[in-house]
Amino acid sequence: MNVASKIWKNGEMIDWDDARIHIMSHVVHYGSSVFEGIRCYKTANGSAVFRLREHIQRLFNSAKIYRMDAKFTVDEICDATVELVRDSGLEECYIRPLIIRGLNEDKPAFGVNPFPNPIDSYIAVWQWGKYLGEEALETGIDVCVSSWTRITSNSLPSMAKAGANYMNSQLIKMEAILGGFSEGIALDDRGYVSEGSGENLFLVNDGKLITPPLGAAILPGITRDTVIQIARELGIEVVETTVQRAALYLADELFFTGTAAEITPIRSVDRITVGAGKRGEVTKRLQEEFFKIIRNERPAPKNAPWLTFLKEQKTVAA
Ligand code: PMP
Repeated sequence: MNVASKIWKNGEMIDWDDARIHIMSHVVHYGSSVFEGIRCYKTANGSAVFRLREHIQRLFNSAKIYRMDAKFTVDEICDATVELVRDSGLEECYIRPLIIRGLNEDKPAFGVNPFPNPIDSYIAVWQWGKYLGEEALETGIDVCVSSWTRITSNSLPSMAKAGANYMNSQLIKMEAILGGFSEGIALDDRGYVSEGSGENLFLVNDGKLITPPLGAAILPGITRDTVIQIARELGIEVVETTVQRAALYLADELFFTGTAAEITPIRSVDRITVGAGKRGEVTKRLQEEFFKIIRNERPAPKNAPWLTFLKEQKTVAA
């Protein structure tokens, strides 16, 4: 694994090998972390981080829900991210900002009450290939509906990207892998379709995009929002509504979205072939636009500033 030599910790650059925590840190025992996953892509004008601000804003939203004060501003974390990625020398990478409840070794506290524990902020970057496999983007993947129910929002709020939520994701993922599938889709506590272990989900029916609403205990995915905006720009209708499990089997097309998964087609659910059993036309179209935007080959919808370049772009004098 190609990792950066430095990690940003509480405002300082430290060596990757020194980014260690005490076993009695609060986060290890009680899952008290919030984090992000962001990608930096190579473009013809140099490397650029995709939707950096939106990701860091979601990190701060997650921290707010859990009453964690990062002691830095969104701008400061954005700037630190750019500096770290630039110094890493990696042209393309995955970025992991993380806020945890640690341990004050001078005044240790080991109980559930998180307030006595210090808040530590980190950013790590490394090179990460295609999350669901190189071929997946073209051929699609086989998935199952999980026997595990997605976390409910009044026990673990799905609006927060919290480490603890991923115990639920791990149950979903392990069951899928052991059953011979690439990924699992969880239903929410009402039995409606929610999301994958680390991806949002879209159906295509009669040329329309359908996706579960935020109320279905999903993470408000930034790729989900990206796809919705691209689709609307292309004149594709997008409907956020509850989805029954059986509708997955009957969809014309189905795909996952996520920073790691990007836009990954799904070719079967529970061994029932979806549509033609390969990437559909709408999925392909959305992928094409998505990849053009992240590679700076076309502007984002409404010219939104979705790319943060590592190097200031030189503006050509008119
Ligand atoms: N749902 C879950 C549970 C996830 O972990 C992720 C990945 N962050 C997503 C959805 C997709 O979110 P995004 O597009 O912001 O990466």
